[in-house]
Amino acid sequence: MNWGYGVNLRGNIQLSKETNKLTILDLIRKSKTPISRADITRITGLTNPTISSMVAELMEENLVVEVGLGETIVGRRPILLDFNPGGRAIAGVVIDYPGVTIGITDLGGKILVKRPIDVNLAGGARPEVILQKIGQELKAFIEEWEMNGPKIWGTGVALTGGVNGRTGICIESRSLNWINVPVKELLEPWARPPLHVANNIRCMILGEKWFGVAQDEKDIVGIRFGKRVGSGIIIDDNILEGSRGMAGEIGHLTVDPNGIECFCGNRGCLRNYVTEDSILARLHLLAEGGDEQAKLLLTKLKSIQPGFMLKFLKRIAEDGHELSERIISDLISNLGFAIANLIKSFNPTMVVLLNEDRSFAESLAEEVILKVDPLVELLSNLSVNIVAGQLGEDAHMVGASALALDSIFKTSMV
Ligand SMILES: [Zn+2]
Repeated sequence: MNWGYGVNLRGNIQLSKETNKLTILDLIRKSKTPISRADITRITGLTNPTISSMVAELMEENLVVEVGLGETIVGRRPILLDFNPGGRAIAGVVIDYPGVTIGITDLGGKILVKRPIDVNLAGGARPEVILQKIGQELKAFIEEWEMNGPKIWGTGVALTGGVNGRTGICIESRSLNWINVPVKELLEPWARPPLHVANNIRCMILGEKWFGVAQDEKDIVGIRFGKRVGSGIIIDDNILEGSRGMAGEIGHLTVDPNGIECFCGNRGCLRNYVTEDSILARLHLLAEGGDEQAKLLLTKLKSIQPGFMLKFLKRIAEDGHELSERIISDLISNLGFAIANLIKSFNPTMVVLLNEDRSFAESLAEEVILKVDPLVELLSNLSVNIVAGQLGEDAHMVGASALALDSIFKTSMV
C-alpha cells in the first residue's frame, strides 16, 4: 500500500499527545479502506503501546470504530479500524446576502440539519447587531443539538465578501455593506471553538477538497459564477489568503479591455459577464435603448430564483434565443479567459467550476475546456483538469464545515 505521506513520528516525541492522536485519527480518516493498528505503527513509526492506547481513546470518544478483520498470510488476522464521521459534529454559519443559514454537519460533510434564521441583512442594521442576533441563534441551536446529538467540535463561518481568514475580520463586503467588521471576535462568545471565518468561495472550494470533486488534489483553483463571482485558490493544501485576505477576488479582472463599462471605472471586468446582477443590468440598458427582446427577457427572468438565471438563459439559448446565445457565449469565453489566466498564475492540477446548480456547471464544463485549451496550449506541461463542483447549493454549508475541520486537522502530521 502506498500512503504517499512519508511520515515518521518516532523522531517527534516532543509532539504533544493530542497532535499524535489527531495524526492517527487523520490517517484512519484519509485511508480509503479500513486500516489495522500494525499499518498505523508502520506508517507513523510510533510504538505499538502508544498506538494501542491512542486508538483505545479514539474508540472511547466514538471517533474510531472496529469494523472486522483484515487478511494476512500468516498469524492472526488483524482487526481493522475505520473513521466514524458521526462521532462529533460541526456547526456552520452561512452569511450570504440576503439571508443567513445555520446548520450542523457530521465529520463526513453530511448536512444533518440546517435552517434559515430570522435576520434581515438588507434592513440596514449595524453589523454588530446582526452578528449578535446570529450569535444568539447559533448558541441556542448548538445547545439544542447537543442535548441528543454528538458534541460540536468546531464552528465554520462562510461569509460573502472579502475576509481575512487569519484575523476573521471582514475587510469589505459590498453586498452586506460591511467594512472592517471583526466577525470572528463578535461570534466567538456564542459558538463552539475553534471558530473560523472565511470568504464563502474559499469555503466552497475547501468543501470540494474535503468532500467533493477535488479530494485527491493539493493545488486547486475554484471559480464561482452566477450569483457572485470570485475564486478560491488552494496551493499545497493551504488556502491562499493574500496580505489582507483578498487573494482570488477576481471580479474586476480585465477580460476584455474594450468591453462593457464597469462601475469600478474600468472596462471589461469579469463580473460583467458572469454574474446575474451584471447581466440583468446589461439587459436593462438594452431595454432602455428600445431592445424588445431584452424587455421580454427581463419579464421572463422575474420568475427565476436567484442562482438559476444563467441556467435558464442557457436553455433558451439552445432553443435559438439570440440574445441569450450572446450572453451565454460571452459567459463561456470570459470564464475561459479568467481560468486560463488563473492556470498560468497558479499552476493547479484542477480547476473547479462552482455554481449553485451542479448540473448547470456540468453542462458548461466541456465548452469552457474548449475555450481554455488553446489559451494554455503552449504551456501543455501545465496539465490541468477542469471539472464542475459536486456540492451544488450545499457547497456553502459543507464548505463552512470543511473550514472548521481543516483548522482542526491542520495540526495533524499527515
Ligand atoms: Zn470592474
